[in-house]
Amino acid sequence: MKMNDLSDSYTLSNGIEIPCIGFGTFLISDNEIAIRSVKAAIDIGYRHIDTAAIYGNEKSIGVAIKTSNVVSREKLFVTSKLWNSEQGYENTLAAFERTIKDLQLEYLDLYLIHWPVVKGHKEDWQKSILDTWKAFEKLYKEGKIRAIGVSNFFPHHLNILMADAEIQPMVNQIELHPGQTQDETVLFCQKNNILIEAWGPLGQGGILSNPILQKIAEKHNKSVAQLCIRWSLQNNFLPLPKSITQDRISENANVFDFEVGLEDMEIINKMPYSGGSGLNPDNIDF
Ligand code: NAD
Repeated sequence: MKMNDLSDSYTLSNGIEIPCIGFGTFLISDNEIAIRSVKAAIDIGYRHIDTAAIYGNEKSIGVAIKTSNVVSREKLFVTSKLWNSEQGYENTLAAFERTIKDLQLEYLDLYLIHWPVVKGHKEDWQKSILDTWKAFEKLYKEGKIRAIGVSNFFPHHLNILMADAEIQPMVNQIELHPGQTQDETVLFCQKNNILIEAWGPLGQGGILSNPILQKIAEKHNKSVAQLCIRWSLQNNFLPLPKSITQDRISENANVFDFEVGLEDMEIINKMPYSGGSGLNPDNIDF
Protein backbone atom coordinates (compact mmCIF):
# COMPACT_ATOMS: atom_id res chain seq x y z
CA MET A 1 0.00 0.00 0.00
CA LYS A 2 1.28 3.47 -0.85
CA MET A 3 1.74 5.75 2.14
CA ASN A 4 1.15 9.46 1.63
CA ASP A 5 1.79 10.94 5.04
CA LEU A 6 2.69 10.20 8.64
CA SER A 7 -0.84 9.36 9.67
CA ASP A 8 -1.29 6.73 6.92
CA SER A 9 -1.30 3.28 8.43
CA TYR A 10 -0.57 -0.37 7.96
CA THR A 11 -3.31 -2.72 9.13
CA LEU A 12 -2.29 -5.43 11.57
CA SER A 13 -3.69 -8.97 11.37
CA ASN A 14 -6.30 -8.10 14.01
CA GLY A 15 -7.51 -5.07 12.03
CA ILE A 16 -5.76 -2.44 14.16
CA GLU A 17 -4.30 0.50 12.24
CA ILE A 18 -0.65 1.38 12.93
CA PRO A 19 0.80 4.68 11.65
CA CYS A 20 3.46 3.97 9.02
CA ILE A 21 6.47 5.68 10.66
CA GLY A 22 7.18 5.41 14.36
CA PHE A 23 9.27 7.87 16.36
CA GLY A 24 12.18 5.94 17.93
CA THR A 25 13.27 6.88 21.45
CA PHE A 26 16.25 4.63 22.25
CA LEU A 27 19.01 6.52 24.11
CA ILE A 28 16.80 9.52 24.77
CA SER A 29 17.20 10.22 28.49
CA ASP A 30 14.29 10.49 30.88
CA ASN A 31 14.31 14.26 31.11
CA GLU A 32 13.41 17.49 29.38
CA ILE A 33 15.06 16.25 26.17
CA ALA A 34 12.66 13.30 25.89
CA ILE A 35 9.67 15.51 26.60
CA ARG A 36 10.80 18.09 24.04
CA SER A 37 11.67 15.50 21.35
CA VAL A 38 8.41 13.58 21.63
CA LYS A 39 6.41 16.81 21.63
CA ALA A 40 8.34 18.00 18.56
CA ALA A 41 7.58 14.71 16.82
CA ILE A 42 3.87 14.98 17.63
CA ASP A 43 3.82 18.62 16.47
CA ILE A 44 5.42 17.61 13.17
CA GLY A 45 2.77 14.93 12.69
CA TYR A 46 4.20 11.66 13.99
CA ARG A 47 1.37 9.62 15.50
CA HIS A 48 3.37 6.59 16.57
CA ILE A 49 5.91 6.46 19.41
CA ASP A 50 8.21 3.54 20.11
CA THR A 51 9.68 3.09 23.57
CA ALA A 52 10.67 0.25 25.90
CA ALA A 53 10.97 -0.22 29.64
CA ILE A 54 14.75 -0.58 29.31
CA TYR A 55 15.08 2.85 27.63
CA GLY A 56 14.17 4.32 31.02
CA ASN A 57 12.26 7.20 29.44
CA GLU A 58 8.64 6.09 29.80
CA LYS A 59 7.91 8.73 32.45
CA SER A 60 9.01 11.61 30.24
CA ILE A 61 7.21 10.18 27.23
CA GLY A 62 4.11 9.95 29.41
CA VAL A 63 4.45 13.63 30.28
CA ALA A 64 4.90 14.56 26.60
CA ILE A 65 1.76 12.66 25.60
CA LYS A 66 -0.27 13.99 28.50
CA THR A 67 0.69 17.60 27.93
CA SER A 68 0.50 17.59 24.14
CA ASN A 69 -2.32 19.83 23.11
CA VAL A 70 -2.00 18.86 19.45
CA VAL A 71 -3.63 15.46 19.57
CA SER A 72 -5.66 13.30 21.93
CA ARG A 73 -4.24 10.05 23.32
CA GLU A 74 -6.61 7.98 21.15
CA LYS A 75 -5.04 9.45 18.01
CA LEU A 76 -1.59 8.22 19.07
CA PHE A 77 -0.13 4.75 18.74
CA VAL A 78 2.18 3.93 21.66
CA THR A 79 4.43 0.88 21.76
CA SER A 80 6.49 -0.42 24.65
CA LYS A 81 8.51 -3.58 25.21
CA LEU A 82 8.90 -6.05 28.00
CA TRP A 83 12.51 -6.15 29.19
CA ASN A 84 14.42 -9.43 29.27
CA SER A 85 14.73 -9.70 33.05
CA GLU A 86 10.92 -9.53 33.35
CA GLN A 87 10.03 -12.54 31.21
CA GLY A 88 7.64 -15.09 32.76
CA TYR A 89 3.91 -14.91 33.45
CA GLU A 90 3.72 -13.04 36.77
CA ASN A 91 6.76 -10.85 36.06
CA THR A 92 5.22 -9.75 32.76
CA LEU A 93 1.93 -8.74 34.36
CA ALA A 94 3.80 -6.68 36.96
CA ALA A 95 6.16 -5.12 34.39
CA PHE A 96 3.22 -4.14 32.20
CA GLU A 97 1.55 -2.36 35.12
CA ARG A 98 4.74 -0.38 35.77
CA THR A 99 5.02 0.56 32.11
CA ILE A 100 1.50 1.93 31.77
CA LYS A 101 1.79 3.68 35.13
CA ASP A 102 5.04 5.35 34.04
CA LEU A 103 3.50 6.30 30.70
CA GLN A 104 0.34 7.51 32.51
CA LEU A 105 -1.77 5.51 30.07
CA GLU A 106 -4.86 3.36 30.48
CA TYR A 107 -3.81 1.03 27.66
CA LEU A 108 -0.92 0.36 25.29
CA ASP A 109 -1.38 0.10 21.54
CA LEU A 110 1.38 -2.47 21.13
CA TYR A 111 3.47 -4.49 23.57
CA LEU A 112 6.47 -6.50 22.40
CA ILE A 113 8.70 -9.18 23.91
CA HIS A 114 12.01 -7.33 23.52
CA TRP A 115 14.35 -10.30 22.86
CA PRO A 116 13.77 -14.05 22.50
CA VAL A 117 16.77 -15.74 24.16
CA VAL A 118 17.80 -13.76 27.20
CA LYS A 119 20.23 -13.88 30.08
CA GLY A 120 18.94 -16.26 32.73
CA HIS A 121 16.83 -18.20 30.19
CA LYS A 122 19.42 -19.48 27.74
CA GLU A 123 18.47 -23.09 28.42
CA ASP A 124 14.72 -22.72 28.82
CA TRP A 125 14.01 -19.83 26.43
CA GLN A 126 11.13 -21.70 24.82
CA LYS A 127 9.25 -22.03 28.12
CA SER A 128 10.13 -18.48 29.08
CA ILE A 129 8.66 -16.91 25.94
CA LEU A 130 5.57 -19.14 26.08
CA ASP A 131 4.88 -18.16 29.71
CA THR A 132 5.44 -14.52 28.81
CA TRP A 133 3.11 -14.81 25.83
CA LYS A 134 0.33 -16.21 28.05
CA ALA A 135 0.49 -12.98 30.05
CA PHE A 136 0.47 -10.95 26.81
CA GLU A 137 -2.66 -12.84 25.69
CA LYS A 138 -4.37 -12.19 29.01
CA LEU A 139 -3.64 -8.44 28.82
CA TYR A 140 -4.77 -8.38 25.19
CA LYS A 141 -8.05 -10.14 26.00
CA GLU A 142 -8.64 -7.70 28.85
CA GLY A 143 -8.32 -4.81 26.38
CA LYS A 144 -5.23 -3.39 28.07
CA ILE A 145 -3.17 -3.83 24.90
CA ARG A 146 -4.58 -3.40 21.38
CA ALA A 147 -1.92 -5.51 19.65
CA ILE A 148 0.84 -7.88 20.76
CA GLY A 149 4.07 -8.91 19.15
CA VAL A 150 7.75 -9.64 19.45
CA SER A 151 11.11 -8.11 18.68
CA ASN A 152 14.37 -9.59 17.42
CA PHE A 153 12.73 -12.97 16.75
CA PHE A 154 14.12 -15.26 14.06
CA PRO A 155 11.76 -17.76 12.37
CA HIS A 156 12.85 -20.56 14.72
CA HIS A 157 11.82 -18.45 17.72
CA LEU A 158 8.53 -17.51 16.08
CA ASN A 159 7.79 -21.16 15.23
CA ILE A 160 7.96 -22.09 18.92
CA LEU A 161 5.70 -19.21 19.88
CA MET A 162 3.20 -19.64 17.06
CA ALA A 163 2.74 -23.38 17.60
CA ASP A 164 1.53 -22.74 21.14
CA ALA A 165 -0.12 -19.33 20.83
CA GLU A 166 -3.85 -18.80 21.03
CA ILE A 167 -3.36 -15.30 19.60
CA GLN A 168 -0.71 -15.02 16.91
CA PRO A 169 1.92 -12.25 17.07
CA MET A 170 1.00 -9.24 14.96
CA VAL A 171 4.41 -7.54 14.76
CA ASN A 172 8.10 -8.45 14.73
CA GLN A 173 10.44 -5.50 15.30
CA ILE A 174 13.90 -6.33 13.93
CA GLU A 175 17.13 -4.58 13.00
CA LEU A 176 16.60 -3.68 9.38
CA HIS A 177 18.25 -1.13 7.09
CA PRO A 178 20.21 -0.97 3.87
CA GLY A 179 23.14 -3.27 4.57
CA GLN A 180 21.13 -5.48 6.92
CA THR A 181 18.08 -6.96 5.27
CA GLN A 182 17.29 -10.16 7.24
CA ASP A 183 15.59 -11.68 4.18
CA GLU A 184 14.63 -14.99 5.79
CA THR A 185 12.90 -13.40 8.77
CA VAL A 186 11.17 -10.83 6.56
CA LEU A 187 9.82 -13.50 4.22
CA PHE A 188 8.65 -15.67 7.11
CA CYS A 189 6.81 -12.75 8.71
CA GLN A 190 5.24 -11.57 5.47
CA LYS A 191 3.95 -15.11 4.81
CA ASN A 192 2.45 -15.23 8.29
CA ASN A 193 0.87 -11.77 8.21
CA ILE A 194 3.24 -10.38 10.85
CA LEU A 195 4.12 -6.73 10.22
CA ILE A 196 7.84 -6.01 10.14
CA GLU A 197 9.01 -2.96 12.05
CA ALA A 198 12.51 -1.75 11.24
CA TRP A 199 14.68 -0.73 14.16
CA GLY A 200 17.89 1.15 13.44
CA PRO A 201 16.41 2.19 10.07
CA LEU A 202 19.39 4.55 9.62
CA GLY A 203 21.85 1.88 10.69
CA GLN A 204 22.02 3.82 13.96
CA GLY A 205 23.76 6.54 11.95
CA GLY A 206 26.37 4.09 10.60
CA ILE A 207 25.23 3.96 6.97
CA LEU A 208 24.58 7.63 6.37
CA SER A 209 27.88 8.17 4.57
CA ASN A 210 27.60 5.05 2.42
CA PRO A 211 28.55 6.07 -1.18
CA ILE A 212 25.93 3.82 -2.86
CA LEU A 213 23.20 5.41 -0.78
CA GLN A 214 24.61 8.91 -1.22
CA LYS A 215 24.51 8.57 -5.01
CA ILE A 216 20.88 7.38 -5.05
CA ALA A 217 19.81 10.00 -2.50
CA GLU A 218 21.38 12.79 -4.58
CA LYS A 219 19.30 11.76 -7.60
CA HIS A 220 16.19 12.56 -5.61
CA ASN A 221 17.60 15.61 -3.89
CA LYS A 222 17.07 13.85 -0.57
CA SER A 223 19.31 12.97 2.34
CA VAL A 224 20.55 9.40 2.90
CA ALA A 225 18.39 9.28 6.05
CA GLN A 226 15.31 10.08 3.96
CA LEU A 227 16.31 7.48 1.37
CA CYS A 228 16.67 4.80 4.06
CA ILE A 229 13.23 5.57 5.47
CA ARG A 230 11.65 5.63 2.01
CA TRP A 231 13.34 2.31 1.14
CA SER A 232 11.87 0.83 4.30
CA LEU A 233 8.35 1.97 3.43
CA GLN A 234 8.61 0.75 -0.17
CA ASN A 235 9.53 -2.68 1.19
CA ASN A 236 6.40 -2.56 3.37
CA PHE A 237 8.41 -2.24 6.59
CA LEU A 238 7.52 0.18 9.33
CA PRO A 239 10.60 2.31 10.09
CA LEU A 240 11.28 3.79 13.55
CA PRO A 241 13.82 6.61 13.00
CA LYS A 242 15.12 8.35 16.11
CA SER A 243 16.44 11.87 16.55
CA ILE A 244 16.36 14.55 19.22
CA THR A 245 16.96 17.39 16.76
CA GLN A 246 13.87 19.17 15.51
CA ASP A 247 15.25 19.59 11.97
CA ARG A 248 16.10 15.92 11.67
CA ILE A 249 12.82 14.79 13.21
CA SER A 250 11.17 16.85 10.50
CA GLU A 251 13.55 15.68 7.76
CA ASN A 252 12.87 12.03 8.63
CA ALA A 253 9.15 12.61 8.12
CA ASN A 254 9.57 14.30 4.77
CA VAL A 255 9.70 11.11 2.73
CA PHE A 256 6.36 11.04 0.93
CA ASP A 257 7.16 13.14 -2.13
CA PHE A 258 9.54 10.81 -3.95
CA GLU A 259 9.74 7.22 -5.06
CA VAL A 260 12.85 5.04 -5.33
CA GLY A 261 12.84 3.21 -8.69
CA LEU A 262 12.82 -0.58 -8.89
CA GLU A 263 16.40 -0.74 -10.09
CA ASP A 264 17.69 1.37 -7.21
CA MET A 265 15.53 -0.59 -4.74
CA GLU A 266 17.27 -3.74 -5.97
CA ILE A 267 20.70 -2.17 -5.64
CA ILE A 268 19.93 -1.21 -2.04
CA ASN A 269 18.28 -4.56 -1.27
CA LYS A 270 21.47 -6.31 -2.38
CA MET A 271 24.02 -4.11 -0.62
CA PRO A 272 26.63 -6.08 1.32
CA TYR A 273 26.35 -6.21 5.09
CA SER A 274 27.16 -2.83 6.61
CA GLY A 275 26.21 -0.59 9.49
CA GLY A 276 24.71 -3.37 11.59
CA SER A 277 24.88 -3.51 15.37
CA GLY A 278 26.32 -7.03 15.18
CA LEU A 279 23.80 -8.23 17.78
CA ASN A 280 22.70 -11.82 17.25
CA PRO A 281 19.39 -12.58 19.00
CA ASP A 282 20.54 -16.15 19.66
CA ASN A 283 23.65 -14.94 21.38
CA ILE A 284 23.17 -11.81 23.47
CA ASP A 285 24.43 -11.50 27.03
CA PHE A 286 21.70 -9.28 28.48
P1 NAD B 1 18.43 4.95 14.02
O1 NAD B 1 18.76 4.09 12.86
O2 NAD B 1 17.09 5.57 14.11
O3 NAD B 1 19.56 6.07 14.04
C1 NAD B 1 19.59 7.05 15.02
C2 NAD B 1 20.87 7.86 14.84
O4 NAD B 1 20.85 8.54 13.59
C3 NAD B 1 21.02 8.93 15.91
O5 NAD B 1 22.38 8.99 16.26
C4 NAD B 1 20.62 10.20 15.23
O6 NAD B 1 21.30 11.31 15.70
C5 NAD B 1 20.98 9.95 13.78
N1 NAD B 1 20.03 10.62 12.86
C6 NAD B 1 18.69 10.58 12.92
N2 NAD B 1 18.14 11.26 11.90
C7 NAD B 1 19.17 11.76 11.18
C8 NAD B 1 19.24 12.55 10.01
N3 NAD B 1 18.14 12.94 9.38
N4 NAD B 1 20.47 12.87 9.54
C9 NAD B 1 21.59 12.46 10.17
N5 NAD B 1 21.58 11.70 11.27
C10 NAD B 1 20.38 11.35 11.78
O7 NAD B 1 18.81 4.10 15.34
P2 NAD B 1 18.07 3.66 16.67
O8 NAD B 1 17.61 4.81 17.47
O9 NAD B 1 18.93 2.67 17.34
O10 NAD B 1 16.78 2.87 16.14
C11 NAD B 1 15.54 3.51 15.96
C12 NAD B 1 14.54 3.09 17.02
O11 NAD B 1 14.30 1.69 16.96
C13 NAD B 1 15.04 3.30 18.45
O12 NAD B 1 15.05 4.65 18.82
C14 NAD B 1 14.10 2.41 19.20
O13 NAD B 1 12.85 3.02 19.34
C15 NAD B 1 14.04 1.20 18.28
N6 NAD B 1 15.06 0.17 18.62
C16 NAD B 1 14.61 -1.07 18.96
C17 NAD B 1 15.50 -2.08 19.28
C18 NAD B 1 14.98 -3.43 19.63
O14 NAD B 1 15.76 -4.27 20.11
N7 NAD B 1 13.72 -3.69 19.44
C19 NAD B 1 16.89 -1.83 19.28
C20 NAD B 1 17.33 -0.55 18.92
C21 NAD B 1 16.41 0.42 18.57
